[in-house]
Amino acid sequence: MVSATAGDRWDDRAAAGLEDPLDQCVYGSRLLGSDPTLVLHGGGNTSVKTTVVDVTGEPVEVLHVKGSGWDLATIERAGFTALRLDRLRALLRLDRLADAQMMTELRAARLDPGAPDPSVESLLHALLPNPAVLHSHADAVIALTNQADAEGLLRQVYGDDVVVVDYVMPGFDLARRCADTIPARLRKHTLGIVLRNHGLFTFGATTLEAYRRHVALVARAADFLAARPPKWTPSAQPPPEFAPVAQARIRQHISRAAGAPMVVTRHDDPAIRAFVTRGDLADLAGRGPLTPDHVIRTKAVPLIGSDVEAYAAAYTSNFAAHRDRRGAELAMLDPAPRVLLDPRFGMLTAGARVTDADIAADIYRHTIDTVERAERVGGYRALPPADLFDVEYWELERAKLRRGGARPPYAGEVALVTGAASGIGRACAAALRAAGAAVIGLDINPCDVDAPDFLGRRVDVTDAAAVSDALATGVARFGGVDVVVVAAGVFGARQPIAEMNPDAWRHTMAVNVDAVATLFTKVHPLLAVAPRGGRVAVIASKNVPAPGPGAAAYSASKAALTQLARVAALEWAPDAIRVNVVHPDAVFDTGLWTADLLAERAARYRLTVDEYRRRNLLGVEVTSARVGALVAALCGDSFAATTGAQIPVDGGNERVI
Ligand code: ZN
Repeated sequence: MVSATAGDRWDDRAAAGLEDPLDQCVYGSRLLGSDPTLVLHGGGNTSVKTTVVDVTGEPVEVLHVKGSGWDLATIERAGFTALRLDRLRALLRLDRLADAQMMTELRAARLDPGAPDPSVESLLHALLPNPAVLHSHADAVIALTNQADAEGLLRQVYGDDVVVVDYVMPGFDLARRCADTIPARLRKHTLGIVLRNHGLFTFGATTLEAYRRHVALVARAADFLAARPPKWTPSAQPPPEFAPVAQARIRQHISRAAGAPMVVTRHDDPAIRAFVTRGDLADLAGRGPLTPDHVIRTKAVPLIGSDVEAYAAAYTSNFAAHRDRRGAELAMLDPAPRVLLDPRFGMLTAGARVTDADIAADIYRHTIDTVERAERVGGYRALPPADLFDVEYWELERAKLRRGGARPPYAGEVALVTGAASGIGRACAAALRAAGAAVIGLDINPCDVDAPDFLGRRVDVTDAAAVSDALATGVARFGGVDVVVVAAGVFGARQPIAEMNPDAWRHTMAVNVDAVATLFTKVHPLLAVAPRGGRVAVIASKNVPAPGPGAAAYSASKAALTQLARVAALEWAPDAIRVNVVHPDAVFDTGLWTADLLAERAARYRLTVDEYRRRNLLGVEVTSARVGALVAALCGDSFAATTGAQIPVDGGNERVI
């Protein structure tokens, strides 16, 4: 469960010396932002009012308010935009102002035109008379506001310590409504404002005062909820087995509905299991999100079960029913679900990037917890579909998502890379991630990448059971496998055939061929349901077309691997899976090559090490990164009509050409 609030974490020693009100606001904002029961993923905003002296020597009253694109948990002074308060007060006197025009006016009120766009809630901050203002979407407060009898419950908990405002869509209309109603209702003892279906504002002479009021009000709500018995508790039942290919198939449907590949992550812990196994799951989950801004991350409702087509059809008809509300021509967003709930698999969350799927999961975990607590004191109730639609299609919310930038070529796709900890495998993983793919990296050594879009697993590729486990973990994390890069391999000691050690031969064959055959068998069902068709890139060797003496096991294993890949290209073409082979040569920045080996080999040819590195027709150095870039291209759209190919990446070799 996620319900425990972090409580009052103001540290007087850490905050000592923060004389400047903006510094204190930064400190308090970070405290608020780093408590996920108060603020999730860029939500919430804060401000402080001060007087500054401008360049002409005139004092100017300003509102320092959180800038768009900054997260409260990590905000700095530069994340606050200073706005001229007199201008904001003038705007608050207007009867109407379109939201786009409001944003233009807010931008124009900046002291520094290079500062970030101010929060869309800036006018709300401006109208409160107190210097310091903090705003969160605290779960415990939402559990009270999202109720049929929110007014009664809030009065029971807060008396008249807070002013309650009915739901109005954020933006100018909300600021206008608050400007009309709040000032007359503020009393000396008023501690904050509760906005229904939205969240909490507190204020004070200092950020410390506003912060203490904030956590105290949230604690009163949490205590009130905790005093009632839970409606359900985390499940002791272990989650059932769920085949990776079943998740990959659902991902295929989600991606089809979305019109592009999506990452799909599975979550099945006791809190989620307790929720998805409820008899009234469809009713509870169908009631809607905690706050309307969650819609851009989770859509208005989750899909119960796995009928993605039915969900998309319902989304499309809901869009048709509301499309004229915004007074502008709207293009429908993709109708694919972002959250799926089912006792068979727990919760799946989808996103174009891994972080999008993770954000949807975080939000829905808090939704489950808050719905449960709301049910203790009444009945959870969200906004009606029309209000949710307004926020989902609100230009200012869409702008938040656009800040993520253009979709990279491999966005939503998943690559499995063997030998990912070093050399060519590592370079392939890096090239694919740079192009937007999530990567499952297998290696006998630990991978040193720590990022949401990378899952490293320490695996001996000859251990079939361990590879199966790693695949299952990888699919649970990202939803499937679109691309396989076979880069794990061993070279072995140089041995003439006459003196060959049979164990060394067998070991080379086991790693370079047998393990790949086993991997192919396991991964085929996943590749067959890859949304854009599966792709395999096999790292073989120049030794296949041009073997060298003393490397019988290596050359023979890579030749067998190449033949395996060619047969896979034949067998898998009907499943739209492309299989291609690259033949690198003399890639010296890999684990196969030590400085000693390089020096010994250079000496054998009577060359310097640098000459030896470039010993090819083009005189270029063949690096791991060059091979990685080729593999990323080969698995991309430029090679959409190519399978069964063998491509040298060796700088040119007379024996190969
Ligand atoms: Zn808000």
